[in-house]
Amino acid sequence: MAYDQDNIFAKILRGEIPVEKIYEDGFAVAFPDINPQAPTHVLIIPTGPYDSLDDFAKNGTVAEIAGFWRAVGAIGRQLGVSETGYRTLANTGPDAHQEVPHFHVHLFAGKKLGPMLAE
Ligand code: AMP
Repeated sequence: MAYDQDNIFAKILRGEIPVEKIYEDGFAVAFPDINPQAPTHVLIIPTGPYDSLDDFAKNGTVAEIAGFWRAVGAIGRQLGVSETGYRTLANTGPDAHQEVPHFHVHLFAGKKLGPMLAE
């Protein structure tokens, strides 16, 4: 699948849609989800044009993959939830209901998050 340069997260990366960036480095950008599902709900996206976790894992460079996951951990610590705990989730493809075709990791925290999957 060709990367869609007009997806909403590509526009956020280009600064065409404003968001409150809570973290940014050369590998990742993080901002609050517009429709939060937990007291803390942040989206973490790579700066490169990868449409899904599958694309990123297959085609990302080792530096991009390491840098991205380093950022995820740093964001958990920055948010102050690394001790109390948090959940990360990456919807990948239609069965997982991935809505935005730019790889993103959801970070949920701030309450007891319950079972991993809804019944
Ligand atoms: P997914 O279903 O995993 O693709 O999740 C996409 C997420 O992007 C949803 O949780 C949306 O609420 C979120 N979202 C869509 N547009 C924006 C936006 N402009 N700013 C922040 N979050 C957004």
